[in-house]
Amino acid sequence: LELSFDNLSLNENDPMDFLADNSNELNTIFDLEGCHVEVLSRIGSGNYGEVFQGKMSSPGGAVKPERLVAIKQVRDNGRVSNCLIDFQREINIMKTLEHPNIVQIIGVVEGPQISLVMEFVAHGSLDCYLKINRDSITQEQLLKFALDIAKGMNYLGQKKIVHRDLAARNILVASEEHVKISDFGLAQYMNSDNHYQWRTQRELPIKWYAPESMLQGLFYPLSDVWSYGVTLYELFSYGEDPELKNDDNKPYENNIKFHEALRAGQRLPCPDTCPQQVYCKLMVPCWEFEMKDRPSFFKLIEIITSISL
Ligand code: ADP
Ligand code: MG
Repeated sequence: LELSFDNLSLNENDPMDFLADNSNELNTIFDLEGCHVEVLSRIGSGNYGEVFQGKMSSPGGAVKPERLVAIKQVRDNGRVSNCLIDFQREINIMKTLEHPNIVQIIGVVEGPQISLVMEFVAHGSLDCYLKINRDSITQEQLLKFALDIAKGMNYLGQKKIVHRDLAARNILVASEEHVKISDFGLAQYMNSDNHYQWRTQRELPIKWYAPESMLQGLFYPLSDVWSYGVTLYELFSYGEDPELKNDDNKPYENNIKFHEALRAGQRLPCPDTCPQQVYCKLMVPCWEFEMKDRPSFFKLIEIITSISL
């Protein structure tokens, strides 16, 4: 099956200009403004979307002769309209972002199914990478990953965006010493009070959520800092599930129970493989119950650079 599109929206253009004449399937070819995007294989799929690897070439030479790309589409199901609104927001947010620690959007193909075309990040998501390469990754590397994530998050905060899904599964590994933040599916612009209050029916990643987020649905950059702490836990435990251990009950049974456990001071333990100073200086401060007591991403960058392993 071959698809031809009238146009390709590159970063700065309006993504609504495009029309396609067919549906999307594996091995389709987008023919776009001199660029071809060939869809290769599926590399990820979640509740709402699917991600494919693709190969983009531009014989005209406008872009690099040939490069690998990742193509994200929302799954076609009954909830399409809500999904589409969310996906359009994800795209609009990504279009404003350009930073070494944030996955780069390349373009958007508008059609019966919208496709977000982004750079392909070679080593995939961090949670898998940690499990696979556990024996060869050094703690210096882990600390560099932590620094990269903090830098990307600090940039997002400057852009008045809260990510709301910061977790190892949404960090992509570009090289052994370089990671990028991805998946802006839950990201939102903050309101004038510098926060966002949810209105979504989506399933939320509660285990990564700060107390103010899980009960009141409030999100500040300092709520992302809490999730960053949980992501550090994943990082320094080489991809362990961040499960709060609780003697008598299951804290994740519902949000209120979980919130109570946190209020009572329960926190994730120091992973066996994590240096004490990383746990005490970096992770634990991210989990201050009161938001104002947590370090900002700017401060976290300072703390990370002050740590010598
Ligand atoms: P979802 O909203 O379904 O969680 P994600 O954006 O997190 O979608 O992507 C799902 C998975 O696809 C990721 O965990 C990762 O393994 C893979 N993936 C996504 N984007 C890229 C990319 N740019 N390069 C390489 N792999 C990617
Ligand atoms: Mg994801």
